[in-house]
Order: sequence, then C-alpha cells, then structure tokens
Amino acid sequence: MATNYETFEYDVLVIGAGGAGLRAAIEASAAGVKVGLICKSLLGKAHTVMAEGGMAAAMGNVDDRDSWKVHFADTMRGGQYVNNWRMAELHAKEAPERVHELEAWGAVFDRTKEGKISQRNFGGHRYPRLAHVGDRTGLELIRTLQDHGIHQGITVHMEYTIVSLLKDGERVVGAFGYDRERGRFRIFKARAVVVCTGGLGRAYRVTSNSWEGTGDGVSLAYHAGAELLDMEFIQFHPTGMIWPPSVMGILVTESVRGEGGVLKNKEGRRFMYDDIPENYKSQTSLDPEEGWRYTQNDKNAKRPPELLTRDHVARCINREVKAGRGSPHGGVFLDIAWIKEKIPNAAEHIKRKLPSMYHQFMQLANLDITKEPMEVGPTTHYAMGGIRVNGDTQATNIPGLFAAGECAAGLHGANRLGGNSLSDLIVFGKRAGEYAAKYARENPAGQVNDSQVAAAYREAVEPFEHPAGSGSEGPYQVQYDLQNLMQTNVGIVRLQNEMETALAGIQQLKARAAKVAVQGHLEYNPGWHTAIDLKHLLTVSEAITMASLDRKESRGGHFREDFPNKDPEAAKYNSVISKAADGTMKFRREPIPPLPEALKQVIEEMK
Ligand SMILES: Cc1cc2nc3c(=O)[nH]c(=O)nc-3n(C[C@H](O)[C@H](O)[C@H](O)COP(=O)(O)OP(=O)(O)OC[C@H]3O[C@@H](n4cnc5c(N)ncnc54)[C@H](O)[C@@H]3O)c2cc1C
Repeated sequence: MATNYETFEYDVLVIGAGGAGLRAAIEASAAGVKVGLICKSLLGKAHTVMAEGGMAAAMGNVDDRDSWKVHFADTMRGGQYVNNWRMAELHAKEAPERVHELEAWGAVFDRTKEGKISQRNFGGHRYPRLAHVGDRTGLELIRTLQDHGIHQGITVHMEYTIVSLLKDGERVVGAFGYDRERGRFRIFKARAVVVCTGGLGRAYRVTSNSWEGTGDGVSLAYHAGAELLDMEFIQFHPTGMIWPPSVMGILVTESVRGEGGVLKNKEGRRFMYDDIPENYKSQTSLDPEEGWRYTQNDKNAKRPPELLTRDHVARCINREVKAGRGSPHGGVFLDIAWIKEKIPNAAEHIKRKLPSMYHQFMQLANLDITKEPMEVGPTTHYAMGGIRVNGDTQATNIPGLFAAGECAAGLHGANRLGGNSLSDLIVFGKRAGEYAAKYARENPAGQVNDSQVAAAYREAVEPFEHPAGSGSEGPYQVQYDLQNLMQTNVGIVRLQNEMETALAGIQQLKARAAKVAVQGHLEYNPGWHTAIDLKHLLTVSEAITMASLDRKESRGGHFREDFPNKDPEAAKYNSVISKAADGTMKFRREPIPPLPEALKQVIEEMK
C-alpha cells in the first residue's frame, strides 16, 4: 500500500515554514542531515510574515540597564509564574545572539543614531527591547530565514497539508499529507519530525490569525500521543480592527501604543489610568505626561498604562464597552494622531514608524490614522498553551517528535508579552532543529505502517462519500457554529455554565463534523480543506474548554468572572491533556518543578 504513494525520505522533517520551522530546518541542515520542510501555503506566506512590532531581546542598545535577568523576570511576571522557567531562562539568555545572527544573515533592522539595532517599547517589557523593522518585522524575519535556508539546500514542499503523523510503535517516523493543488497524497518518512505549525486562533470567530491558524500541529501531535500543556491560556489581543465588519479581528499592532498612542472611551477618558494592577503599580506612570515621555525613551519615566500586559488591557476595554462607554461599533478609540500636539511633522513620523498601520486603515477602513482615532477591540491572537516540550531540547513525550514556535507551550505561561513570540521562534526553533538532527543521527529509520496510511487516507477523503442532502451538511456551517460557540462561551471572560455549554456543544459538533459532505474533486478544493481542518479545530477547542473548566481562578489570558482572583495554589501546577486509550480526552494537573534558588533571586531583584 505505502508503495502506492510517492514517498519522500528525510532525516529531519519540519512541518511548518514560519519563523520556527525555518529556523529549525536551518539548524538541522547545518548539522549535516537531510531536511525536508512542508507548508500549507507558499513559502514566505506563513503567519509569521504578519508579525509587526518586533522581537524581544535584551541587547540594551537603547537602554543599557536591560539584561537577560530583567527580560527573564518580565517574562515570568507576564506569564504569572506558571511558565516553564527553564525556557524563560534560555529564551532571555539566547535571544540577543539569535538576533545578531539574523543581522549577520542579512536582516535589515532599524538603527539607533549610533548605528546599533534599534529597540522599541512594548507592553510588559521594562525597557525598550524589541528589535524591529518598522512595523514589518515578521516579513524581514521570514525573508532572511528563507534566503538563508534555501541556500543551505533544504527541500521545500509548498502547498502540502499534513493530515496525520505516522508511527512505528511509540515512535513518530513520518507524516502523511496531500498536495493542495493536485490533491495527491504523499508519504514523508523521517527519523525525526519537528512540528512548527503555528497558532489556533481560527477556533474563534474574531481573530488576528491567518487562515492557516487552525491548530493542526497541536491536534496532530495530540492524536499521535503527545501531551498538551496549559491549553486554557489564550491571548486576546486588546487591539484588533472592529470596523468595517469584513476586517474585524485584523491586528492593530501594540507598536501604536509603544509610539505614544492612547486608549480612550467615548467620553474621551483615558480609562487605563483607572485600573492599574497592584504588581505593576511601581512600574507604571502616574500621569499622562510621564507616560508620553516613556514612549519617547526618557529613562526616568515609567510606562503609560496602555502598555500594561495584553490580558489586562483587553479586559479593561471589554469593561468599558459593557458599561456603555464604548465607540459606535463596539470597541474603544486608539489615538496616535494626538501626538501632533507634541512633535512637529507628526503625520510623517507616524507614517515612518507605523507604515503598515497607516496603509491598513487607509485601505481597509478609509481612515487616516495621522488625523483620526481608530476604533479597536479585543481579538483572539495567540495560544500560550500547546504541545508540551522539554525546555532544552523541544522534544515531546513521543520519541522522534519535536515541536517549536506557537504550537509548543511553556515559555509564556499564562500570558505572552508582545515580541516574545518572534524571539521564541528563533531561540527554540534553533534548539528543535539541533536536537531533532541529533536524534536522527542516533536512531535508525523506522518502518511506515501501511494500515495507518490507509486509515489516514480513508479519514481524509470520507467527506466525499457523504451524499449531500442525506442528513449531512457542508463543513462551513459546522466551522461557523464552532467559532461562535467558542467566541461566546470560552472567550475573554469565562463562566462555568457557559463553558459547560461549550463542552456539550463541541460533542454535538463532532457528530455533525463526522458527517459533513463535500463535493467536487481533490484538486484545490477549499470545502474539503475546511472539512479536514474541522477535526483540528474541534480537538483544540475541546482541550481549551476542558482546561479552562478546571482552572477555577483568573490568571493571565484566562479570566473567570465566577473566580475573578488568583488562587496561590493554582500557581503551583500546569494543566496537562492527553488522549486516553479509549480515544477520549484526559485532563490532569501537574506540579510545576520548583524554581532554582538563583532564578528566584533574579525575580526578587527585579521586583
Ligand atoms: C498580525 C500579527 C502580528 C504579530 N506581531 C508580532 C510581533 O510583532 N512580535 C511577536 O513576537 N509576535 C507577533 N505575533 C505573533 C507571531 O507572529 C506568531 O506567534 C508567530 O509568527 C508564529 O510563528 P510559527 O513559526 O510558530 O508559526 P507560523 O508562522 O504560523 O507558521 C506555521 C506554518 O505551519 C504550516 N502549517 C500549518 N498547518 C500545517 C499542516 N497541517 N501541514 C503542513 N503545514 C502546516 C503553515 O503553512 C506555516 O508555514 C503577531 C501575530 C499576528 C497575527
């Protein structure tokens, strides 16, 4: 049977060509093994390309008080101390070297007057820390890695979708997928597989994520036996576009606030000053003038409350809207135009610092941000939870399977700081590539099992076998209902009974998804692709809901109206989800390993 399919053979197979996948592929290839790289879209189009604000690395170019210790402490505080502290430590220590490496590979960063890589302010970072290229940092990251990777001789399979991981006993030995354009199935054999498939925001109705963010890697790994970690922690970015409806959810970068943009309600009040959390009071400005000076890199000023962590800002916006103080289309106002009161040539300055935002609003909303405030509201943005990995090696609990980037979990704890994802990709993408290559060198090739391939094929094409009109429906209706269910019941503010409704609803949607019908053929068939995505969306939605129901407290991206406070006991465990032998989803709490004394001291020093 396996011989019926064209088969590619690699030492290391990387699934996903965003920042994490490209960096993993480069590292594995540099280690001298044969590397294949697969992506659902064209190379260069991965979600990473949309990243705007920058990548966090404590280089201290703009403020020399910065160091890995401050970055580590900021990341742990932002993640509310349920982070994998080893990952937070490695990330803070290694990010500067990874950024300099990109520079050496040709990335053209913005510069300080002295010619160093420029760094900007971002929410939750004590000092200006984000290396950036205007507000198009993701594009530069992808371009640089892509150029470097291609010259390294990596084989790229574009527009391929992996539908199943293949196993030999406990070990992952490859993947099975189809070519989106032609609909032909292929086998990819590999000694080690690295999953770098990005986010899962498409489980919600309002999201900043691209069409690819359907949680594939998290679901593929889960069904192959990998454990999932802290799935309840979803980041709702405070500022997404809300008008016109066709662009709802598209991100408005935090850089707007980093450059001095302020949030106001319909009464013109800067409501963020009304609610500054206790643990951030010592670092937050007392008056707007001081906040403005901070955004202009005055070392003696403290950050404005608009730059508090995303979970908090999103909830404050939600509160204003619920209290009837929102903007006409159900958000609040984000104003950068006001800086004309402060600097000459403000319009030019805004266009230079925020070129994408200027064009985004001009073209999509017919609004000139140099003249008028934007209307913004929260949007589903990032999954802190995902595949559980070893902090040093990025290995999962399944031999031969590694994960890195947004689909992996641990670094960000309960809430990710802006800019910490792009640095996550390069730090842990590199580590995943390095250790996957090592594993591949140390282990012989496994056997691909024909019956697994046959089962994966049957499952993938089953929607064609359901005749339309015989109690089955199209995949889009199920997808739409799932996104609404999650948005309404497991969103920014959560309640026990609503999440129970969601969990029951997901079971019903699973039954409907099993019967969806698609028509036509296998060649570029978006309806069929959506039917395949449904399995992943339902898997990640169930995991998010199950973990959210268990965590009876509020922490980071997980806010429960019925348990609005933090429970110190809940800071002591992570949520772990795995697939039981009977195929059902299993939940358990797992104690967080104690923080080593030296790192505890770093956190104390930086308070
Ligand atoms: C608008 C926007 C702006 C952002 N700005 C910033 C920022 O300034 N700083 C920051 O740190 N973070 C930012 N983020 C977050 C950050 O961009 C993402 O978390 C990060 O890029 C994810 O990278 P990744 O490599 O993990 O995955 P992605 O870049 O999402 O790549 C995933 C890859 O996996 C492939 N794939 C998925 N499923 C399959 C499958 N089944 N088969 C084969 N291939 C598959 C896709 O085709 C793609 O190539 C932003 C996010 C958004 C939405």
